[in-house]
Amino acid sequence: MDDDYLESLDRLREISPDVADYHTFRRVVIALKKEFPLVFSASVHLRRKPFDTEDWAVCGFRGCWFPLKRGGRFKILVYRTGLAPFDTENLIHEWAHARVWPAEDDEFHCPTWAAEHGKLLRWYWKKFVEG
Ligand SMILES: [Zn+2]
Repeated sequence: MDDDYLESLDRLREISPDVADYHTFRRVVIALKKEFPLVFSASVHLRRKPFDTEDWAVCGFRGCWFPLKRGGRFKILVYRTGLAPFDTENLIHEWAHARVWPAEDDEFHCPTWAAEHGKLLRWYWKKFVEG
């Protein structure tokens, strides 16, 4: 994260202290599990962003990446920025990956993923943002 980005996050927190409120993030996790279930269970973790990554979040499949195996589970890490709505949208991005996990050699951001991502984002905005 560059300094400008961190500064803009600090400014956002001053204007709107509730951006760091992760209550909605937790509600979204529960609602996703209920309304958009996965073929395997998933754990979601809010973590401090490691210094050596450009990612905002990652989704892995425990054990190995391909193929999905019985008894495995998804592990989603969302790197906490302090800007909860931003982090929630990153969670949605990763949930869409878990919903349409690619076969070996397929692109992760393929049209199938994009369609699922769009569907989940519209659901999230309608249910949690627009109220
Ligand atoms: Zn992705």
